[in-house]
Amino acid sequence: MEIYCPKCTWEPGPHSRWMCHCGHHWNAFETQGRCPQCHFRWQHTQCHACAEWSPHVDWYHDLPEIDLEAMLEEVAEAKQAEPQQRLRGTGHP
Ligand SMILES: [Zn+2]
Ligand SMILES: [Zn+2]
Repeated sequence: MEIYCPKCTWEPGPHSRWMCHCGHHWNAFETQGRCPQCHFRWQHTQCHACAEWSPHVDWYHDLPEIDLEAMLEEVAEAKQAEPQQRLRGTGHP
């Protein structure tokens, strides 16, 4: 699977980390944006290179269509619950 920033094509590395509102740091692309500690599903992910926000699903570029649909459905459900939540990068590529 190819994963990179839809705005600048930066690729998250195995040591890239994002920070959840619960204080947990982890690689968001290992869990499709879901925090492993509090299980919150993040819809927007910040790029560590250009600092732009993009929908988490936009980072996946060769996802099988059926998986993408399932993910979008989950995102739509999460969006109804928490419309303003955004996953902030730690600033360390
Ligand atoms: Zn970027
Ligand atoms: Zn969390």
